[in-house]
Amino acid sequence: MAYLECRDIKRIFPGKFTLDLSFSMDKGELMCVIGPSGSGKSTLLSLLCGVDDPDEGRIVIDGTDITDLSIQKRRIGMVFQDFSLFPSMDVAANIQYGMRGLEKPEKERRTTDLLQLVGLDGYENRRVHELSGGEAQRIALARAIASEPRILLLDEPLSALDAPLRKHLRTVIRQIQKNTGITMIYVTHDREEAFAIADRVMVMRGGRIGAIGTPQDIYNNPNSLFVARFTGEGSAIPMTYISRGIKDSMVFIRPEAIEINKTNPSEDDVVLKDAVVQNSEFTGSEYFVRLKYKDVYISAYSSVRPDSEKVDLYIRRDRITDTIAE
Ligand code: ADP
Ligand code: MG
Repeated sequence: MAYLECRDIKRIFPGKFTLDLSFSMDKGELMCVIGPSGSGKSTLLSLLCGVDDPDEGRIVIDGTDITDLSIQKRRIGMVFQDFSLFPSMDVAANIQYGMRGLEKPEKERRTTDLLQLVGLDGYENRRVHELSGGEAQRIALARAIASEPRILLLDEPLSALDAPLRKHLRTVIRQIQKNTGITMIYVTHDREEAFAIADRVMVMRGGRIGAIGTPQDIYNNPNSLFVARFTGEGSAIPMTYISRGIKDSMVFIRPEAIEINKTNPSEDDVVLKDAVVQNSEFTGSEYFVRLKYKDVYISAYSSVRPDSEKVDLYIRRDRITDTIAE
């Protein structure tokens, strides 16, 4: 049986927005939620943690219906983008805030363990204002875990930090999640972050689930152009350009599936002759090349900058997503 079940959840903001979804999660799973701004990511977390109530539907954790439970009784942890620590308390007091019914020595022992878990041993007596942004977010994580939540929700926890630190801390969070086995729902606007750490990814689309699956599945077999474009680069091409196909049907092709002027083409490759190079950008490890074929734009990678205006594109047939819908 699933650990978390959201059954036909609806939240209606009349005239503005409707959230409408069902999904379930296993215990110990890390699910990342991505989607455009305003697609309902934060609304979903509000319903789960109980700061807002669904108009319809049930939320069940471990077989218990929690839809009508208060925030306190749900035992769901939250970590937000802004570091919501108590500035007047030191680190230890912040972490111990959510621990209930434990004797002082036990609280202190657990605090030491939690600080070790987030890689900040010995920070017990630091003041909140002395912490860097990355340290504050680790303490917020330790505090959330201290209350032994049944599920931990994270809403863009790293958005306020710079890119290298974000990259490091996402790995730290994933490692902590694996070590503790906590079930996590992690909202991010960064698809690379989602792909890097998630067991499964949910793509939100206008209050509904556009797609849900493993990162590999969603990236390689997008079920719509919306999901395909939101999860990476790629090109939509009329099917009739690559095979006899169906009129008005589109196929979708990721740039890695294309090779420019391939020297040893396979019999199975689809070839588009005389594509016109529009521009190429050096990315550090290769070139990102934009091309035009008939009336469509196509992107591809290349290890060298194309030296002619017209090139031939070789596309791996097994990497083409057929008849993709909007
Ligand atoms: P995301 O986190 O994906 O950016 P949100 O869940 O915050 O999106 O918002 C989804 C939509 O719901 C937005 O259009 C937002 O304006 C609307 N919304 C959120 N909360 C409320 C509310 N309390 N009342 C009315 N509309 C709301
Ligand atoms: Mg949000």
